[in-house]
Amino acid sequence: MIESQHRLAFLDNALSRQQQSQRWRSLTPVKPVDAVHIQKGDRTLISFSANDYLGLSKHPQLIAAAQIYAERYGTSATASRLVAGTYDIHNHLEEAIATAVGKEAALIFNSGFQANVSIISTLVDRQSLVLCDRLVHNSLVQGILLSRARLKRYRHNDLEHLESLLKSAVDDGSYNRILVVSETVFSMDGDRSDVDGLIQLAQQYQTLLYIDDAHALGVLGTGGMGLAAHKPGIDLVVGTFGKAFGSFGAFVACSAKMRDYLVNFCPGLIYTTALPPSIIGTILTALELMPTLDAERTHLHRCADRLRAHLHSLGYDTAGSQSQIVPLMVGPDTAALAMAQQLEEQGIGAIAIRPPTVPSGTARIRLALSSSHTEAHLDHLCRSIERTSESTSDAITSQIQKI
Ligand SMILES: *Cc1c(COP(=O)(O)O)cnc(C)c1O
Repeated sequence: MIESQHRLAFLDNALSRQQQSQRWRSLTPVKPVDAVHIQKGDRTLISFSANDYLGLSKHPQLIAAAQIYAERYGTSATASRLVAGTYDIHNHLEEAIATAVGKEAALIFNSGFQANVSIISTLVDRQSLVLCDRLVHNSLVQGILLSRARLKRYRHNDLEHLESLLKSAVDDGSYNRILVVSETVFSMDGDRSDVDGLIQLAQQYQTLLYIDDAHALGVLGTGGMGLAAHKPGIDLVVGTFGKAFGSFGAFVACSAKMRDYLVNFCPGLIYTTALPPSIIGTILTALELMPTLDAERTHLHRCADRLRAHLHSLGYDTAGSQSQIVPLMVGPDTAALAMAQQLEEQGIGAIAIRPPTVPSGTARIRLALSSSHTEAHLDHLCRSIERTSESTSDAITSQIQKI
């Protein structure tokens, strides 16, 4: 009895530390209503939390494709790609993605997380060096840790810092490979990296270059194909289908030889069941729609401009946001949580993002816009933020008066 308590004591210890530091996470159920509304308890909220940037997750053509592909191919791919899971539609999707991104080849993965973890750890080993932006997504960091390569992080978007690390690594001369890792649009700040600058450094220092385009795909670049498309200097471009594509899964676009290497050596491809046909159908449909959605993208970017201008007029910092992701910087964790709660009471679904997802002291409300948001939805959001910040400053004023 005593022994069993001891065996599981680490759960209580970790969970109570988490609770004490106000970092408790829980899974709150919501029901999707339409492309922008969710139901939470007895409240209907306009959601500004989803990554469904083009509202495609509720698009009738994607829903129909899921049904048709399931009827034609069944509900499962039934095995790994290498066993019996590569259907003609998997190859067809890979060819279409490679063309759209301007690479020789592409390979589908079951999620962006899985792609990043398993590709990076297949590319580099304990004799390698990985240089990554300080703010890259956790899945990229996990991949680097799993690889056992030496990891150095350069200051966010600071290519001079990256170059100084590259210089000393080359002088050092002891690494078998150097891999540079960045995103195009950063998931929690909504700012962008200098992709051409990264390519130039990678070429100058003869490194591999790995770019995660998850938040630009569907939203930025020609035909919505992202900020890493048609750039030969990038060795591997990763994109995810769970965001603007309104579906699920991910791809890496690369050379045909790199694809062969991954098919032979990447465990995250080899030892997992292939994506099901219904998902492949929705991705193919989203890919077909992509070039036709310029008006939606223009509307989305206008909404983001308007939201940033409004937040600035209220005195809020939006970090370096230059995309549909607009962080409302708050600072302390508890203040961000309180603000999210107040917004929810006004019918706004907006999530407080806290450490360790973001650096300590930079808790924020992450506002993610969708082209399905109307001007009226945005008005509602702006008014709610205004009221929230008024009530917060009233509370501070009355606190001061009490003192
Ligand atoms: C969301 C995200 C991922 C993970 O993709 P999933 O398909 O959701 O697993 C990877 N990289 C970045 C930058 C992301 O924002």
